[in-house]
Amino acid sequence: MALQVIEPKIRGFICTNAHPTGCLKNVRSQIDLAKKDIESTENTPNVLVIGASTGYGLASRIALTWGYGTNTIGIFFERPPSGNKTGSTGYYNSAAFHQMATQDGFTAISINGDAFSDQIKQKTIDEIQEHFGQIDLVVYSLASPRRIHPKTGIDHQSVLKPVGDSCTEKTVDLTNENIIDITIHPATDEEIANTIAVMGGEDLEFWIEALLSENLLAPQANIVAYSYIGPKITDQIYSSGTIGLAKIDLEKRVNAIDTRLLDQINGHAYLSVNKAVISQASAAIPIVPLYISILNRIMDTKDLNEKPIDQMIRLFSEYLGPNLVPIVDENRRIRMDDRELRSDVVAEVNEKWSLVNNENFHDLADFEGYKRSFRNLFGFEVEGVDYDQPIETEVTIPLV
Ligand code: NAD
Repeated sequence: MALQVIEPKIRGFICTNAHPTGCLKNVRSQIDLAKKDIESTENTPNVLVIGASTGYGLASRIALTWGYGTNTIGIFFERPPSGNKTGSTGYYNSAAFHQMATQDGFTAISINGDAFSDQIKQKTIDEIQEHFGQIDLVVYSLASPRRIHPKTGIDHQSVLKPVGDSCTEKTVDLTNENIIDITIHPATDEEIANTIAVMGGEDLEFWIEALLSENLLAPQANIVAYSYIGPKITDQIYSSGTIGLAKIDLEKRVNAIDTRLLDQINGHAYLSVNKAVISQASAAIPIVPLYISILNRIMDTKDLNEKPIDQMIRLFSEYLGPNLVPIVDENRRIRMDDRELRSDVVAEVNEKWSLVNNENFHDLADFEGYKRSFRNLFGFEVEGVDYDQPIETEVTIPLV
């Protein structure tokens, strides 16, 4: 038992604790949006979600479970509660996910461990063999600052830097909420290689290799990996930066996997380019929180804005669902960033971006909304939660 009142512990773009009741409510709200009358089918699809506890991966798991009744096996790397220390937000989200999946009669298996390791891949294989037989869809939604390479043991650390030239751009200083110019020096070759090792596609290749070698991908199985492109404002730090090069590597390998799957199981692999959203991963990228604050105000006004759950409901109902011919662009990418990159949205973001300064910041950008949504990620400032009440932090997940 660890009953306690929990106050958020936030430093810059990091929150080191989480509120179980707030996380539960967040998961429940996502489920309410995803819930559909599920047509009964002979074979319930089996889905493997790698990175299943927060952001796009959790939203995918929820959209697929409550929208289509799929059985899911979810992999994540989350901190369980210990003594007076709360668990991480992804831990509590997954506990809530299991509680509600069990209530509603869905099959869900979760593994908490390092998805980059051979050991967790083997454990996943064992669980699929025992409970599912084969997998119909793999969702790859990892975002991690580091990867211990399973073959070499090297601890690769990723960096968020431009490539080639320094980049100077506006950003919001999260400690005093001032708009400042930030100059970020270009990454070294070693930093570029490390970032590609962490966020590129090699690990996905290892996953697919492991699944194929055990015949665990069903005929016509699909793989979808998530990526981001974004507008010119974030180009130097994102698309042309270290993370962008890693995403190019991911895309190259997704296309190679596609060729292989087509040949071996008549399956496909896709890259889905998603919208910029407030998540633990995106909060860590300089420039991006200010960009998202401006973007969200504009997209809200136009009634176009989407959270990860809205994006994933749309992905699986319109672009890559059962009985759908996948919708891709000329580069074979699924474009869930279509609304973010609509010409009128981009034009207005550019205009506000050129004008934004300390005086007009709160008029042009929804930074209050950004902060609230960031705290919401960790279960804080969620409507309907009484934060003065001591609550039980020792929550468990039925992990295998
Ligand atoms: P997130 O930080 O919310 O989630 C990351 C997930 O990865 C969590 O479930 C975490 O437990 C898991 N994870 C991290 N390291 C792991 C490890 N070693 N082993 C097992 N699990 C591990 O991230 P997100 O923002 O949802 O991003 C997910 C994907 O979507 C990324 O590929 C990201 O580039 C992409 N994407 C994000 C955005 C955005 O704005 N956030 C936009 C477009 C695309």
